[in-house]
Amino acid sequence: MSEMNKSYRGRWSTFLAAMALPFLVACPAAKEPKPNVLWIVVDTMRADRLGDELNLTPYLDRLGEKGVVFEKAYSHAPWTLPAMASMLTSLHPKEHGAGGRLGKFKTLREGVVTAPAIFSRAGYQTHAIVNVEFLKKKYGVTRDFDGLDTVTYENNVEVRIAEETTDAALKFMENAATEKPFFMFLHYFDVHAVYDPPQPFRRRHAASFDKQGGEQRTMFGTREHMMALRAGKLDLTPEWIHRASKLYDGEVAYTDAEIGRLLDRMASMGLDDNTLIVFTSDHGEEFFEHGDFEHGHTVFDELIHIPLVMAGPGVKPGQRISQVVRQVDILPTLCEWADVAGERSFTGLSLMDVLRGERARNRKVLSHGNMWGDQPSSAWRDGDWKLIVPATGSPGLFHMSEDSGETRNLASQEPERLKSLQASLEAMESAMASLQPGSDVKLSAEERIVLVSMGYSGNE
Ligand SMILES: [Zn+2]
Repeated sequence: MSEMNKSYRGRWSTFLAAMALPFLVACPAAKEPKPNVLWIVVDTMRADRLGDELNLTPYLDRLGEKGVVFEKAYSHAPWTLPAMASMLTSLHPKEHGAGGRLGKFKTLREGVVTAPAIFSRAGYQTHAIVNVEFLKKKYGVTRDFDGLDTVTYENNVEVRIAEETTDAALKFMENAATEKPFFMFLHYFDVHAVYDPPQPFRRRHAASFDKQGGEQRTMFGTREHMMALRAGKLDLTPEWIHRASKLYDGEVAYTDAEIGRLLDRMASMGLDDNTLIVFTSDHGEEFFEHGDFEHGHTVFDELIHIPLVMAGPGVKPGQRISQVVRQVDILPTLCEWADVAGERSFTGLSLMDVLRGERARNRKVLSHGNMWGDQPSSAWRDGDWKLIVPATGSPGLFHMSEDSGETRNLASQEPERLKSLQASLEAMESAMASLQPGSDVKLSAEERIVLVSMGYSGNE
């Protein structure tokens, strides 16, 4: 008999003997088992690809109907390494130190506490399934997972596709130890270039671009494409941009179907009523909205506006939240949701009240970064207003509900507002100015080739 039961019996025995009703003894309530956590990140997925309008993501939309869709969720950086680190630490890039720039990548700083460390000390088995260089252990972001299943290839074309990623997740869930809940970080890479969707998604979205006879399929994002793009040698016609965008859509739809297969299988395994599910992305992708392509280079919304859906036990279903929330808010939310102690150092704040159906409030968002150079762009989002301070040139001030495409710079028309937002941004940045980045990432010759094949070439 446990100590708890002994003391329980001791306290009540005199009373029960007096009442002569021993059959009324109740057992103390068993402690609720902790829920599982499934955190899905689709690399490079833009927020505007989610939802009914394009109908690319029926499975994720169904997940949203069961839970909460955050329509204005923001990343703190426009590329993978700092953004993933912000998610998994609830810290801004300067606070966690991971990022740097092309050729001078920096690890997560020593001593920074990560999500898997937090969930591991609460009794979870933590497991990550990831498909990109920046999530290898040496960059620091995934260093604390009990299990780290990493697949990266020298040739960016033959990555682990979504079907295989879902299979790996299901295999883990089917074999996971039942005495411990799991915390799984599941990363899909298909939406990132190379855009080369399989059937039937290619047929639906991009078949008209393929050569008749099928011997030559259209794809975009090979090493040759990326190097030609960075050298200014690609013929970037509107037709070319449209084609790249449709191929990208095919990858989004394919990944959605594979996430759907995972969620359906989890339901048949009885996991859906005790698993907290988060779906998001690390950053978006530009299709020449502001004169460039891919990601990593600006803090306009096509690169930092991310999808965010949360569903599971304790969530009021069917909510669509239009207030601004942040990547750093995800981890504190998961901690409160799973009743796991977080860190006092978290920059983010829990969204649990929103999940329960209570009032949502705008959060202010600091984003910055430029993986292509030493001068980062910065963005400060405060309600409807967004200030962008680019690496070079004048600041931009945008009214986001009237100009979501960030095409009308109101800086000269709103000098007072500009000054006030600049002061807030400067205060945030100067508070972090003394923080040091993590250590240098040492890359082998093979790892450099992988990064080049992903399009991260030049400027080194
Ligand atoms: Zn990424």
